[in-house]
Amino acid sequence: MTKASPTIGILALQGDFKEHARKFQQLGCKAVEVRRTYQLESIDALVLPGGESTAIAILESVETEFDQKEGIFDAIKRKIGEGLPVWGTCMGSILLAKEIEGSAQGRLAVMDITIRRNAYGAQRWSAEREIAIPVIGDEPFPAVFIRAPIITATGPNVKILARGEDGIYMARERNILATVFHPEVVADRRVHEYFLGLLTTLT
Ligand code: GLN
Repeated sequence: MTKASPTIGILALQGDFKEHARKFQQLGCKAVEVRRTYQLESIDALVLPGGESTAIAILESVETEFDQKEGIFDAIKRKIGEGLPVWGTCMGSILLAKEIEGSAQGRLAVMDITIRRNAYGAQRWSAEREIAIPVIGDEPFPAVFIRAPIITATGPNVKILARGEDGIYMARERNILATVFHPEVVADRRVHEYFLGLLTTLT
């Protein structure tokens, strides 16, 4: 069942959740900042924003003390397993990955991808680049990379949606979408629209 105006939850422990909220509101959705486990029960999809993946893993263990029955990462994993559409941008894509090269940091480990953090080195290598994303149309997309990771390997059920010579920028495994760049900081709405499209095609 598709709602005319879905409620998009945006994990708001840390990172650029406000930018995502604004974008979804522009597209006619209700956007809710999610900080507590119980809030996951009243959303139609979840976004894991950009930020710092090592910081959010620590924050989640602090937050979990408030939600004693089930920590928010455990609850997110359960909801994803139940089919909740989820989209991770940059840090969010790191949280989704089963493998993070050379790191044992906390993660959801729900998507069959290997990711390399800070693949472009220091902040000064952050950049905007036009990339091809065939599923959203022929026009190139202005992809903003901010201390971005890169997806270096994918499992058999993962569809690669955008890639370059340096690796994979966007991929999907069933209800899980990952982009290593930040569509929430540019005017182009097509990646947000693509994600909203998943809400109708997956259910
Ligand atoms: N470099 C960050 C990390 O490794 C991700 C950066 C971002 O989300 N823009 O967690």
